Amino acid sequence: MSDLTAVQLEELTACLDSQYHDIRNAVRTEFEDTGEQHRIDLLNREPGDSGDQSLASALADFNVARFDRYIQALRDVEAARQRMESGEYGTCTDCGLSIAFARLRVAPTAKRCIECQQKYEREYAQAGQPSL
Ligand SMILES: [Zn+2]
Repeated sequence: MSDLTAVQLEELTACLDSQYHDIRNAVRTEFEDTGEQHRIDLLNREPGDSGDQSLASALADFNVARFDRYIQALRDVEAARQRMESGEYGTCTDCGLSIAFARLRVAPTAKRCIECQQKYEREYAQAGQPSL
């Protein structure tokens, strides 16, 4: 269980929402640039409608490599929202300790505390890009 206060959680929820919207806008711009406006329909869905296919899954269906980074970013946001709902948000998935609020403000999708994240990045540094 994290020791975040309701006010802190509210601020972090707003951070996640704005991240989500930024990504969605970036995808929208990408669609417009490529003349695929008809696909923008899928971007009009609001996040968090339970039962709905997530935007990340919808994008993944296009199977377009250039969307991969957006898909990953959206999945991170969606996963953070789920942890928020289940009360696991703000707790490190590796060591179970609270993640510092200062860290979450900078990286609201973070699922590890800074120590575990650094350890993770050292271990997987060669394997690919660092993740939050
Ligand atoms: Zn940890």
